[in-house]
Amino acid sequence: MTRQEVGAATNVPGVAVDKERLIASGKKHLWLSFERGDSFFDEDGAIMASGDGCYWIDVDGNRYLETFGAQGMGTVGYNHPFMIEACIEQVKKMSGHASLWPVPVPEILLAEKLASLVPRGLTKTIFGLSGSDANETAIKIARQYFKIQGKGTKYKTISRWHGYHGSTLAMNAASGHTHRRTAFEPLPGGFIHINMPYCYRCPYNMTYPDCELACAEELRRVVELEGPSTVACFLGEITTASGGRVVPPPEYPRRIREICDEYDILMILDEVVTGFGKTGTWFECEQYDLVPDILTTGKAICGGYAPLSATTVKEEIAEVFSGSSDRLLHHGFTLAGNPLSCALGLAHIELIEKLGLIAEVPEKAAFLRTELEKMQENSKIIGDVRGKGLLLAMEIVKDKATKELLPAGPEAFARVVSREGRKAGLHAYPAGNRIQFGPSMIVSQEELKLIVDGTARIVRALEAEFL
Ligand code: PLP
Repeated sequence: MTRQEVGAATNVPGVAVDKERLIASGKKHLWLSFERGDSFFDEDGAIMASGDGCYWIDVDGNRYLETFGAQGMGTVGYNHPFMIEACIEQVKKMSGHASLWPVPVPEILLAEKLASLVPRGLTKTIFGLSGSDANETAIKIARQYFKIQGKGTKYKTISRWHGYHGSTLAMNAASGHTHRRTAFEPLPGGFIHINMPYCYRCPYNMTYPDCELACAEELRRVVELEGPSTVACFLGEITTASGGRVVPPPEYPRRIREICDEYDILMILDEVVTGFGKTGTWFECEQYDLVPDILTTGKAICGGYAPLSATTVKEEIAEVFSGSSDRLLHHGFTLAGNPLSCALGLAHIELIEKLGLIAEVPEKAAFLRTELEKMQENSKIIGDVRGKGLLLAMEIVKDKATKELLPAGPEAFARVVSREGRKAGLHAYPAGNRIQFGPSMIVSQEELKLIVDGTARIVRALEAEFL
């Protein structure tokens, strides 16, 4: 492929590109992630050329309004001038860097900025490149933390079924999606799972508040069974992202915190998706007055403009890692903390502050949620509307009373959601039997209406096709 062709394919929407050639080349040379086979290239809008605000544009010049904020990363749109300027400014100074080189200025400044945003007491950050590695770093910190203190038997991680924490082998083990685990078994040891606080389909057939938080108490039961001297950490989200926008009962996060404290277990809070504003606060844990021991972030930390993640740790935990080299952290990635990503992280936080975007979330979220709930009232198949802030989901069922699933499997469901979304000018996001939402924080009222109208079209098509 010539440089001219690449330029046309990647930079200029609507300019004729040899799409057939790109498709053939993609099918032959590019291995797509996450259960997408080569037939993905045959779908309309399979190849993206550029982005414009909350829209991305395919190589035919079609525009798609993002309903899911670029898989959780998108906050300020794809091409915000402030971010572009920050990018150019940093690249002119220095682009590349390696982790064992002298420390780049933006890496220090971003760590300092994060310390001012996260809950009190969390002071020290190590950077990574993805949410997966941020979580894995947190678990490695927890394990070494106990080893340094002569408690090396504490190594296990307890997380939740249906939680998603990443795609490395260890994060497959920590995550609770069966289909992403079985292909790679045997998985690394030391990962135990408990149930989700999924009230719509309570795993205990109980009802809140009569359940007395059986789902949180399961943590205590499992710690007792495994042996408290073997458990290093709990890893979980508050509102789940890929796990279906499940919001726990209000007391759940603090109950988990209490159980962790009781058994000397570190609480790792995964805010890879909920971090940086979409729930209505910088971090969701603020809403529960909850301070985890370790907070992981990624995706939206720099609005998706560059790979970056962060593992931010309580001061007293970080302080244990000092002295001889065997007490220092045996971990890192060459490209982590690179100056371009960190400069974009700083610019992104500054932009959110300047535009006051987080303060706008409650109103935008209330509009979207109310419209989805109205749709639910008039629909036979929208079983549940849930989520926090702009991170919402609709659970689709065959029968609202029995909550029986649609006869269509996830693939057929996804096909209809994507197809009808495209027809409505949306990039809709199917996940299992859900349609999930998480638009960028810059989304306008008009764009929210387009999302609502397009979703109504998708729901009508699902009813027509599967009922
Ligand atoms: N944690 C959560 C809650 C996620 O939703 C994801 C990805 O969807 C990850 C971690 C993994 O992040 P990444 O895909 O950047 O590795």
